[in-house]
Amino acid sequence: MSFTSEIKTQLAKNSQSKKCCQKALLSALLKVDGSLHIENKKLSLESHTENSSVARMLKKILTEYGLSANVSIRRSVLQGHTNYAVVVASQPKLELLLSDLGLLVSGSKYNYGIPEKFINSKCCAKSYLTGIFLGAGYLSHPKQSYHLGFDLANAELATDIVGVLSSYQIKAHVSQKKNNIVLSLQTFDDVCDFLALIGASGPLFYYQDIKIIKEIKNKVNRLINFETANVEKVIKSARRQINNIAVIDENYGLEKLSPALKEIVCLRVDNPEASLEELAGLANPKLSKSAVNHRLRRISELAKIYKT
Ligand SMILES: [Zn+2]
Repeated sequence: MSFTSEIKTQLAKNSQSKKCCQKALLSALLKVDGSLHIENKKLSLESHTENSSVARMLKKILTEYGLSANVSIRRSVLQGHTNYAVVVASQPKLELLLSDLGLLVSGSKYNYGIPEKFINSKCCAKSYLTGIFLGAGYLSHPKQSYHLGFDLANAELATDIVGVLSSYQIKAHVSQKKNNIVLSLQTFDDVCDFLALIGASGPLFYYQDIKIIKEIKNKVNRLINFETANVEKVIKSARRQINNIAVIDENYGLEKLSPALKEIVCLRVDNPEASLEELAGLANPKLSKSAVNHRLRRISELAKIYKT
């Protein structure tokens, strides 16, 4: 089961307790997943989903409204997924329900946007967004990216959803992809705010956990890289210093060096991987880092004479 499908299953199982919210969810779900058919002036309804829990929830709610609904299952051999069709044949209560859900206005006109009554009430607006997600949403796995998208059939609905989301400080982007309008949330914060809004607390915590783990991993990698770079720097400068010592040995003679320089030469050659602090600690008596630095600079200046 895909990540999105798991979330939809969880959401569909947490049925709405308030009647108004249940209507909002049903209205949204039918708006994005439903299709109305008129044959011989008779209206019927069909809704398709790939999620069995969503199909079951839809049938249950429709039954509670006194409608008879049938679920048929089709398995696509080519695409490898199962499609559930919830079919409501023509019946007297159907038109009433569609009007009540704000899908049909003034008798038979289809309403493309979000019905006002669901925007005006906070609890219903959240349920409406849940219905839109159940019908048209997809969420990327946080290990890959932070992205939540919706495939919508019309621009009017997209504009209304952007409006509702912006009232919760969630920024959505709208773009056109083939015949669909794609609405997407593109930041970690926007995705988390949306999941919190629709009550998807399980996926929300999972999203936050994965982000924390990612950050820890990045931090560890940064530290390892920093450490490696530092070690490389120490080895590189030690190699340079040992080369200088070899130049002095060949051209000037190490025995002519002062006792202080002789001491640092011995320490450097015996400890080619030691940092300046470590060399300072090995001297007898101990030296300061700047004293070691000063002595090595004098070695470098002396070698320079013979290098040119
Ligand atoms: Zn409500």
